[in-house]
Amino acid sequence: MDDGRGGVISSGGGGERGPFLLPPRQAPVLAWDAARADRAAGVLMGMACGDALGAPYEFGPALPDDAPVGMVGGGAFGWAPGEWTDDTQMAVVLLEAAERAVSLDRSLLDLLDDVALGWVAWAGSAKDVGAQTRAVLSAAARPGQPTAARLTAAATAHHERSGRSGGNGSLMRTAPVALAFLSDARAMAHAARTVSALTHHDPDAGDACVLWCAALRHAVLTGELDARAGLDLLPPDRQGTWSARLDEAEQRHPASYVRNGWVVEALMAAWSALVPEGQDEPDGPPATPGNRLRRSLERAVRGGGDTDTVAAIAGALAGARWGASAVPQEWVERVHGWPRRLRVAELGRRGLAVATRSPGQEPGTSARADRSAPVSAEGPVTEPDPGPDPDGTTIAPPPTVGP
Ligand SMILES: [Mg+2]
Repeated sequence: MDDGRGGVISSGGGGERGPFLLPPRQAPVLAWDAARADRAAGVLMGMACGDALGAPYEFGPALPDDAPVGMVGGGAFGWAPGEWTDDTQMAVVLLEAAERAVSLDRSLLDLLDDVALGWVAWAGSAKDVGAQTRAVLSAAARPGQPTAARLTAAATAHHERSGRSGGNGSLMRTAPVALAFLSDARAMAHAARTVSALTHHDPDAGDACVLWCAALRHAVLTGELDARAGLDLLPPDRQGTWSARLDEAEQRHPASYVRNGWVVEALMAAWSALVPEGQDEPDGPPATPGNRLRRSLERAVRGGGDTDTVAAIAGALAGARWGASAVPQEWVERVHGWPRRLRVAELGRRGLAVATRSPGQEPGTSARADRSAPVSAEGPVTEPDPGPDPDGTTIAPPPTVGP
């Protein structure tokens, strides 16, 4: 059966448990097919491509709808063409922890001390670290060893001292959390809020991470764009506010959100940038998944301001909806970044591996059983998307993951 948000539950669902309790002992079980695997691989690829596309335009003004936007590098921090920024760099640290969790048969939430250490080490040599994130990482690292508990406490203290901590820095890196908890929406919501709170105490930041992870999960599982998929995972007294924000974003343009360093406007700008089916330009390029993905990310960048982050947020959802196979080949060839010039196709493969190897896979469909590559060395899979898989019971072929 379906859990109402696209997840396949074969046994032991979340029942009536609230979203802020620990996840149920017996997690729902996911089934995989090639289209779903393509979408899971697309999440981190879309995020990284949006990040790299927006990097040269960060802090710039909004651009006209027909202004060219390219993977040209430069910007305030002198990025190489196609190089991703702190958004994807911080997400890579989360991805690495999720990979270790898989190998140890643990939850990502058991390894948040690794995340704390990884972020502090990364910040020591990073070109760009967001102001709020840097303040929290610095405080947690003095004196001694940073831990997740110290980060969370430092984030809380930062919020109490400054009166605000609603920057977009936790939303920009949240995508790996969705991949690590695809099988269980409530566990995912708990994890998204917990990981957000490592650096961002503001409830709006936690809400935004829950909503976006739920949208990523819904898109991977069903092939549908729906930012409202996670509304019921928010505290009841905030659901109406967020619903109204999403309504507004659907009527506006990314350039409307000039305060997109704030997590709320960053999410609204990203949602307003997505090009849903039925809104293709009559005289524009063919309405292919690749063109929709590219146009969505270009729209995000043309909104100006924190362009890399808004496009990274939008890109994760565009990748989740249209899949790795929709990422333009020129981007697959150019997009790369920390650590060690990691390539974007490899990022996609690793995200897919986390998605398919984390707890909750249907027996016989786990990527543990098959390690051939769905995202080839030359580029992503090209298998056509058969559309939504509402009952999720089609199991063929098993998800496949590169080495
Ligand atoms: Mg950035």
